[in-house]
Amino acid sequence: MKLYNSLTKNIEEIPKKDHLNLYTCGPTVYNYAHIGNLRAYVVADLLYRTLKYEGFSPKWVMNITDIDDKTIKGTIEKFGASASVENLREFTKFYLDEFLKDLAEVNVAAKDITFIRVTDVIPQIQDFIVGLINKGYAYKAEDGSTYFSIEKYQKDFGDYGQLVGEKFLEGKKIGARVKSDEYEKENLSDFALWKAHDEQDAQIFWDHPTLGKGRPGWHIECSVINQIAFNGEPADIHTGGVDLMFPHHTNEIAQSQALLGKGNFVKHWFHSEHLLVDGKKMAKRDGSFLTLKNFSEKIPLPGLALRYLFTQSGYRQQQNFTLESLLAAYKALEKIYNTVNAHKIIGENQELQKNIIDEYLARGGKNLETDLNIPGFVASLWEVFNYQAFNVHSQDEVVANFDKVLGLKLAQPPSILENIPLPVEVRELAELRNQARTGKDFAKSDEIRKQIEALGYEVMDTPEGQKLKKALKM
Ligand code: AMP
Ligand code: ZN
Repeated sequence: MKLYNSLTKNIEEIPKKDHLNLYTCGPTVYNYAHIGNLRAYVVADLLYRTLKYEGFSPKWVMNITDIDDKTIKGTIEKFGASASVENLREFTKFYLDEFLKDLAEVNVAAKDITFIRVTDVIPQIQDFIVGLINKGYAYKAEDGSTYFSIEKYQKDFGDYGQLVGEKFLEGKKIGARVKSDEYEKENLSDFALWKAHDEQDAQIFWDHPTLGKGRPGWHIECSVINQIAFNGEPADIHTGGVDLMFPHHTNEIAQSQALLGKGNFVKHWFHSEHLLVDGKKMAKRDGSFLTLKNFSEKIPLPGLALRYLFTQSGYRQQQNFTLESLLAAYKALEKIYNTVNAHKIIGENQELQKNIIDEYLARGGKNLETDLNIPGFVASLWEVFNYQAFNVHSQDEVVANFDKVLGLKLAQPPSILENIPLPVEVRELAELRNQARTGKDFAKSDEIRKQIEALGYEVMDTPEGQKLKKALKM
């Protein structure tokens, strides 16, 4: 199994051993996850499932950022100016639960993930920071906050910023300090490990004899959680979106190597590219900030349709989201479901064609092993359906195996009648018919009924409104 390593910029073999430590930077739980965030987690899940499929035994860990400027702000908005840590936990628990629901909808294997909330590991974070102070890599400044010294790190390790590029520090002035967690490459600075408490934080703080009243900065949590979760072993693979390379991952590397020594942190860095919406970066102000909830009325199984859509682009490529592309993804998925369901009846007494099955599995596997080529893998799935010499029972065998990686519920599609959602065209027509009836345009409503029937569905007008079901063929 080979993967691109964004630290070395090479495609490298992932060595086989008893177990594999997989770490994913998790969400900041102050709001709903947008579909770009979901791409990052679905890609990580495709990697997790691929590793299992390829015979690794991954242990998967994800942090939950429940303490930072944004979660504090949200908590104070909800609970007022004297909000406490307990209030913060309640505020963030809501968005954590929503996040878990989203993961379930896009079928990320969340039951296999060890989630660690930052507010559950504050003492370990404090110990880690004190360790850095003792080694001379951290210092308490006049403002009461504790910062990481890039100068000292660079003197000893000489690799600060390697994720961004070999010559990252060239021409840059070291020495300034930055308290906020996010900043541009141009404003390279000593960053806060422990932020001194101030009024803007209400009553949200932890006390510590050396560090004083305050709270952790963002970057330190992942260094600490890696250590806790993998019992001091380095992570074999660490994943996140490309935006995390600087400053977050750059600083994780510096903190961890400073305390644990060079090479004792992450072996392989895996970064996934961004999702754009209609060609642009997602932004709250222009309505392009989309969450799964935006689609629950428009399309059945939005989570699985989105997941299918994400399989259509390589993880190192940006992907452009449009509503049309999501509908097309849903239609493709529905086509596979219908095919597999039809096979269940036809294929009952067929023998498995072992040789052809093995050949197709090998073809799929090659795609996975070459830097997680999921689009190529899905293309081989479609080839399975189109290969005439294959009996359908054998096709299903391959599909069930491929679905161990894809996680699209292909082997057991949701049932057609009650639960299987209606095809998009039918739902769209039903919506139009509803509008016609509300406007008392019964001629139009009858005409649409005929169009729906032509697609193989029946409409019934009931006291609760119109109901649709699949017409039974006589
Ligand atoms: P955050 O909650 O902002 O820390 O982001 C959670 C994850 O989503 C991180 O791995 C980010 O890199 C990733 N991410 C943020 N925006 C996008 C986007 N537009 N497309 C893909 N991944 C994203
Ligand atoms: Zn992280």
